[in-house]
Amino acid sequence: MRVLVTGGAGFIGSAVCRQLVLEAEASVVNVDKLTYAANLASLASIDGTSHYRFEQHDICDQEAVTRLFYKWEPSAVIHLAAESHVDRSITGSATFISTNIVGTYTLLESARRYYEGLSSQRQRQFRFIHVSTDEVYGSLGPVDCFREDTPYRPSSPYSASKAASDHLALAWYKTYGLPVIVSNCSNNYGPFQFPEKLIPLTILNAIEYKSLPVYGDGSNVRDWLHVDDHAAGLIRLLFEGRAGEKYNFGGDSERSNLEVVTQICDVLDRLRPGPAARRSLISFVPDRPGHDARYAIDASKARSELGWQPTRSFERGLADTVEWYLASGTWWARARNMVYDGSRLGLPATQ
Ligand code: NAD
Repeated sequence: MRVLVTGGAGFIGSAVCRQLVLEAEASVVNVDKLTYAANLASLASIDGTSHYRFEQHDICDQEAVTRLFYKWEPSAVIHLAAESHVDRSITGSATFISTNIVGTYTLLESARRYYEGLSSQRQRQFRFIHVSTDEVYGSLGPVDCFREDTPYRPSSPYSASKAASDHLALAWYKTYGLPVIVSNCSNNYGPFQFPEKLIPLTILNAIEYKSLPVYGDGSNVRDWLHVDDHAAGLIRLLFEGRAGEKYNFGGDSERSNLEVVTQICDVLDRLRPGPAARRSLISFVPDRPGHDARYAIDASKARSELGWQPTRSFERGLADTVEWYLASGTWWARARNMVYDGSRLGLPATQ
């Protein structure tokens, strides 16, 4: 099986590429524009193997994307390329509209033309997995969970652009028969995440005894899933997912932002004790506009139809992640020094 993965140099995409090559014995063609969020060092374990190829392209480039389909003749697509940071979408929404909406449209159109020329046997195998977020559903009260039929109520330019792309993907199934599956997942964490999101930025700042900014009073709740568990779910979709369906993935690990940050402080104090308890570095900053109060996922459809479930607790996964960042200074120094200096931007960390 050859899978065309878009955004494979990013956080989740690189986990998907590694798992496809090293565990599922699939071949991967990684199509990535290499924005600030990309890091090819995340693919070192599979780069140079006969099962992995890299193509640097913008998914908005219709001609280039169409050529890729005929060059590599993939049997599936996992589409992860996106602008993914909510704070950046608030200060500069244009690239979100372009990559997340126009880029998804471009990819769907190229995939449709390619799919229509396949033999009926290859058409039966073909899948287009569109990877999206639980943020499309909007903000929850204290008790509900997002289900696959929860109406969309996105709050940020990021989530609105992802919502638009979900609708396009499902329309390409309904109108043209392209076998699309949409996945909506909660917040991911784990190794190789670019240090602008809540968990990696907090870990790095806490290692260096810098301030740990938290939006509002820190009470906003997110559900957390380890990136390798998400990648495993996406690969299950290739084999077990039903075309035209949506699947929610989540970790049953709801935590407030403040709980996450204090937990990171405590893990680091244990692993690398310093001059003072790191909780003292926490600093509350004015809330983000349109900040959703709570997300929570009902993943029972993925559990029952795909036989999928998270394999680790949040506490275990977070401790492993802190250890990974402690041991991977070269990776994050490179990611951080290339283009981004969170302290200069003055943005608090959040997903
Ligand atoms: P990321 O920002 O780490 O990586 C995105 C990748 O896409 C980068 O390698 C970047 O270079 C590439 N890219 C961006 N624009 C491109 C373009 N125009 N053409 C080609 N490549 C381009 O993102 P991530 O956190 O790995 O998220 C991957 C996908 O999963 C996104 O679609 C996101 O919406 C979704 N998602 C993320 C989370 C999360 O918690 N991170 C949760 C649920 C869903």
